[in-house]
Amino acid sequence: MTVEPDSRGLVIVYTGNGKGKTTAALGLCVRAVGWGNKIRIIQFIKSDWEYGELKGITRLAPEVDIDVMGAGCIGILGDDKPLEDHRSAAQRALVKAREIIDAGEYNIVVLDEINIATHMGLIAIDNVLQLIAGRPHGMHLVLTGRYADPRVIDVADLVTEMKEIKHPFQKGQLSRRGIDY
Ligand code: ATP
Ligand code: MG
Repeated sequence: MTVEPDSRGLVIVYTGNGKGKTTAALGLCVRAVGWGNKIRIIQFIKSDWEYGELKGITRLAPEVDIDVMGAGCIGILGDDKPLEDHRSAAQRALVKAREIIDAGEYNIVVLDEINIATHMGLIAIDNVLQLIAGRPHGMHLVLTGRYADPRVIDVADLVTEMKEIKHPFQKGQLSRRGIDY
């Protein structure tokens, strides 16, 4: 991994109920790719709609790789999977995240929706804190999702809370291709 020798990696958290957490992380990826950085994105709770991201990210290959590890939308959109399925998917994502972080081959690792996985009790907060504490010196970690745990916020270097002021959903408008997925 190419890192500036004295630069410790940052822990970056995008949380809150407003739109823009995952897209903020993706924007960071675009910027970092401009500098030739290598990035790995691990999606903890897959949205079945996120085709836009998947297609777009393939254009950022080989610098950016993505693993879609979740078991689909949780608790919404007719989700009829037992919680145990979501739990085992999130646990697999956690194991994958640990392998990737330990291997130290990426400048940035994005753990998309990991905050939700913790909030829903699918993974233990202690495991997330261990991931953060054990990251290689120069690796940046990005954790997205609503309801970031206060202990994650506590150890983070950069925390942004997206706050909903308005969203078309409030007027009953459905998701739009290219904007929401
Ligand atoms: P995005 O992926 O657009 O950056 P996000 O990561 O902040 O959004 P999530 O909580 O991951 O938001 O929700 C995923 C989906 O829900 C996306 O399609 C997003 O556009 C939509 N969404 C996000 N915030 C809101 C909101 N406040 N009201 C309604 N829908 C929302
Ligand atoms: Mg998101």
